[in-house]
Amino acid sequence: MAEGFDKRDGWIWMDGSFIPWKEANTHIVTQGLHYASAVFEGERAYKGKIFKSKEHTKRLFRSAQIIGIKIPFSEEEIENAKSELIKKMNFNNCYVRPVVWRGSKQMGLSTNNADIHVAIAAWDDWHSYFNEEDRLKGLSLITSPWKRPAPDTAPFEAKASGPYIICTMSKQFAEEKGYNDALMLDYRGYVAEGTGANIFFIKNNDICTPIPDCFLNGITRQTVIELVKNKGFNLIEKHILPSEIDKFDEAFLTGTAAEITPIKSINNISYNVGNNSIGYELMNDFTELVNSTL
Ligand code: PMP
Repeated sequence: MAEGFDKRDGWIWMDGSFIPWKEANTHIVTQGLHYASAVFEGERAYKGKIFKSKEHTKRLFRSAQIIGIKIPFSEEEIENAKSELIKKMNFNNCYVRPVVWRGSKQMGLSTNNADIHVAIAAWDDWHSYFNEEDRLKGLSLITSPWKRPAPDTAPFEAKASGPYIICTMSKQFAEEKGYNDALMLDYRGYVAEGTGANIFFIKNNDICTPIPDCFLNGITRQTVIELVKNKGFNLIEKHILPSEIDKFDEAFLTGTAAEITPIKSINNISYNVGNNSIGYELMNDFTELVNSTL
């Protein structure tokens, strides 16, 4: 495995200017680090241009607003910073990670006087969030013991760092048991999503996906909904019980990092994968789409 992300070379946009990658540091006594007082984005550029860049920037600002942060830059400045960074890094296809956090001026839980910082990093070696081999074979999932909380317990529409500990613990649980990822249920017991991606199920011409009423309505999820509707599938958003998921023929995850990744099993339920599956076809359609809308 290569060295840590902090040991790389290149540039990071931080608080308004480009600084050498290794110098993009923050102090250990930082509110954002201690209390997860932070929001972030995950974006992907294809052929040098970020897919749905403006949508990601809008979500970053909305996430910040939800947790009470006012970003000290305009959306346009962030848009420009992202594209400048990709050029400066000489990247074609890459992953882009903006992050906004409360700094060191205030170390209680109070947000009064907190200083706000913004940084953007990019890297080009996340070809997929899941490795290529696992993606082609399909992923194995196990149900997580951790649940997506109720909308009045955590800010589900914000891509806020705090709630990600639920995803981290679920992912750790799954990997320790030899699975690729975890299926997360919500506080009511309905099927919600993967640890960092939304979930879809297929039965004949019906494509079903849970209603995003307590988890992120992913930008990829919205793109895939349009895509499958345009292909003539019957798209159904509904609450799905874990006891219903053995009725489906196929399943897949969607997310900026995961793109479309077929699922081969959830617990002891198997799904169709491979060249002849609908999931495989959608994976290729998605690749074509993100590379053509540029
Ligand atoms: N759910 C979670 C928990 C995620 O982290 C992500 C990735 N941002 C998604 C869903 C999918 O969102 P998007 O398609 O916007 O990347």
